[in-house]
Amino acid sequence: MALTGAEYLESLRDGRAVYIRGERVESLPDHPAFSRAAGFMAGLYDSLHTQGPHTKALTWETERGSLSHRSFRIARTRRHLQERADAMRVWARMHFGFMGRTPDYKSGLAISLGAWPEFFDPYQSNARRWYERLADDVLFLNHVGVNPMVDRSKQPHELPDVNVRVVKERDDGFIVRGAKLVGTAAVFTHCNLVFSFSPVPLSDKDSDHALVFIVPTGAPGLKLISRPSYELAAKDRSPFDYPLSSRFDENDATLIFDDVFIPWENTLVYRDAEKANRFFPMAQVTQNLMLHGGVRFATKLRFLAGLLVRIAQQNGTIGLRGVRVRVGEVIAWHQAFEALVRDACSNPDPGPNGTVAPSHRAIFALRALAPMVYPKIRQLIEEVGGGGFIQLPSGAEDLLSAELRPFIDRYYRGTGVDAEGRIKLWKLAWDAIGTEFGARQELFERHYAGNVDNVRMDNLFLAENNGDLDEYAGFVQECLDGYDLHGWTQ
Ligand SMILES: Cc1cc2nc3c(=O)[nH]c(=O)nc-3n(C[C@H](O)[C@H](O)[C@H](O)COP(=O)(O)OP(=O)(O)OC[C@H]3O[C@@H](n4cnc5c(N)ncnc54)[C@H](O)[C@@H]3O)c2cc1C
Repeated sequence: MALTGAEYLESLRDGRAVYIRGERVESLPDHPAFSRAAGFMAGLYDSLHTQGPHTKALTWETERGSLSHRSFRIARTRRHLQERADAMRVWARMHFGFMGRTPDYKSGLAISLGAWPEFFDPYQSNARRWYERLADDVLFLNHVGVNPMVDRSKQPHELPDVNVRVVKERDDGFIVRGAKLVGTAAVFTHCNLVFSFSPVPLSDKDSDHALVFIVPTGAPGLKLISRPSYELAAKDRSPFDYPLSSRFDENDATLIFDDVFIPWENTLVYRDAEKANRFFPMAQVTQNLMLHGGVRFATKLRFLAGLLVRIAQQNGTIGLRGVRVRVGEVIAWHQAFEALVRDACSNPDPGPNGTVAPSHRAIFALRALAPMVYPKIRQLIEEVGGGGFIQLPSGAEDLLSAELRPFIDRYYRGTGVDAEGRIKLWKLAWDAIGTEFGARQELFERHYAGNVDNVRMDNLFLAENNGDLDEYAGFVQECLDGYDLHGWTQ
């Protein structure tokens, strides 16, 4: 049965070793750097148990009779895929698209385990069991794949003291040591899937690193070193000043494996470079995962388009040609991503064992395009907003000051809106695009789905393998065949 919000918060008090500002966090849900975001996640869990207009789209009963999130259903038809996307949209709307990782994100990975457990031979029973656990309890899983940035010119085995590798094998499992660059929301998860994700494939010499396994976030020896918390920075401020930073900071942490024991039952790939390399592409993991990425990104663009429209209205510029051009462009991008998500669901790829996966053409296109589009959207909003983002009082207190208020009311008002309403909107917009939280949103969209080069090149790789490249070349040939040195041939 899906956890309730209270059960989720309690599950985070498992002795996990999270560090921030040099201290080990005693109780994550009670710590000022994490409590609001943890509380938001708990609210997501509660929404599964609360009857409302969202219930039908959001929930699903697993084959084992558990109340679950509908995105965990293995799709066998187009309709199932569309329903997965609809369920993800319900939660994405609750955080306006600003949280890349919520418990439904990794439903895509869970599905890949459940749809094709045979891929993980000889660990197929682990894949099956983990799918059922993740789906039945809506466990929060994230992944960590990228190695620390010590020296990108080296293969894992050439940096023997850095990357996660086996240091000892035992009858009941193995011990790993090393680190992973970053796990978004890792501090809020129940467990993390550890694998190798790099532009350079693992070679046979990297067999100690050729692993895929799941580790509980509270496992002894696992340390999570948090980046600066935007929630903590906004702690003493009114939500009026930091409405997004203060509740949707999903955090990112470096994971350090200081001799962590991994039992065989949590193992999916062991010392098998070929399988560890094929894991993401072959098991349709990227397609299943990035459906969430696409739904969330489209939701975020819907929100940013709304922000931009309201900014232009409040500035009295919505009728001006240059502004209309920019607002129109943002709307076009939003619609394009909604269309890619629809296409991903309505033109699925066949998957193993009678399943279907979101179309690889649509998914890999949106994965490559989102990192290019997001900085452009930020730019367009800044162009339309101009210096308005800087004509913002330092805090809600300024509006509450009897001395300042008459001036603020006169000089900060907008077109058809009083000063308080205008400042409220613009502070929200600045938190979305300009604060440390807002800037990290761009970095996230740019990188979270993979290396900036590979996310584009993967489209070529797929086209080379699915016949599209021949079709492109043949199409040009049709044109070339229409004429020669002597004139028209057709
Ligand atoms: C906000 C944020 C959240 C993230 N969350 C997660 C997470 O939850 N889980 C997770 O696993 N990862 C996460 N990541 C990591 C993310 O997947 C990587 O940042 C991304 O895959 C790019 O890899 P990289 O950072 O190692 O950059 P690199 O791959 O090192 O690329 C940096 C630059 O170096 C060049 N380069 C590096 N190596 C090579 C090479 N061998 N050949 C050619 N060019 C090369 C690239 O072209 C690029 O220009 C997150 C990243 C960010 C920024």
